[in-house]
Amino acid sequence: MKQQFESILNMKKKYLFGPVASRRLGISLGIDLVPFKTCSLNCVYCESGATTMLDTERREFVPVDAVISQLDEFLKASPRVDYLTFSGAGEPTLNSGIGKVVDFVKDKYPDYKLCLLTNATLFNDPQVLQEIKRVDLCIPSLDASNAEEFARINRPAQQVDFNKFIDGLTGYCHHTDSEVWLELFIVPGINDSDASIRRFVDIIKSAAPDKVQLNTLDRPGAVDWIKPSTAENTMRFVRALEPFAPVEAVGPFKYKCLALRRKITLGELDHQIIELIGRRPSTVEDMVEAFGLKADTIKERLDALVAAGKINSERSRRGDFYSLPG
Ligand code: SF4
Repeated sequence: MKQQFESILNMKKKYLFGPVASRRLGISLGIDLVPFKTCSLNCVYCESGATTMLDTERREFVPVDAVISQLDEFLKASPRVDYLTFSGAGEPTLNSGIGKVVDFVKDKYPDYKLCLLTNATLFNDPQVLQEIKRVDLCIPSLDASNAEEFARINRPAQQVDFNKFIDGLTGYCHHTDSEVWLELFIVPGINDSDASIRRFVDIIKSAAPDKVQLNTLDRPGAVDWIKPSTAENTMRFVRALEPFAPVEAVGPFKYKCLALRRKITLGELDHQIIELIGRRPSTVEDMVEAFGLKADTIKERLDALVAAGKINSERSRRGDFYSLPG
């Protein structure tokens, strides 16, 4: 009976997964538009393993009417979701019906935000760009600074040409109204030489995305020789790219440039701290969570506010709690 119930549930949500809590996107419902593992690339770091269907030909890989009806069923209950995300084990833009799904959500449930995780290899196809025009957030990958790195890291289908891929990606960044976070996966020994970083700088300068996210191996990839980038190595990318785009490291080593941390002045931060602890005594960890800032930055302000007699600090078994005097 339990099995029967689970299989009905699975059928109902066959093309959707989650919602899951995602560090980058908040609560995200995944939409899977291609069967496992259909992709125009076969990246060495792919968490889904090796690509079994390596192709660039677009087709209605899964029936979009069924996807739409599952989405409709899910969304009509008005669930709390931050993003509906085209993701899954493969490249979503390979489904020729993606535009229909985008339009359905934007026409019928305009309050929900759409995110597209993509390898951007089809971005030189105007039809694809037209279909994804209405997504709110696009996260394309850029892991190679030249054709050789592209071949070694992304192992593309033979129809994918590196220069055309870069043209498609930069052209998209220039013309889209969607927010763009470019994701760059660092593969030590392949795309992290000084020359590679210089080439990445040129591409990113030209594309001018809203943000660059640096990632590296966190979980096993499709091959076993790939190693994670060290914090020091990742910081070489940060230093080179930050003059041209806000940079964040999202792998095992975390970094967020000042421009991406909440843009608040010290006075505003003091005000927010006082407002928060006026509601309930809080620890530094509570404030890291609430403000999205580094613990050091918050601790510095707390020490200054305590020294000025504006707030109190009290040690308890659960740590230091800050509260308003009296
Ligand atoms: S583009 Fe994405 S899904 Fe395709 S092989 Fe690379 S990491 Fe995996």
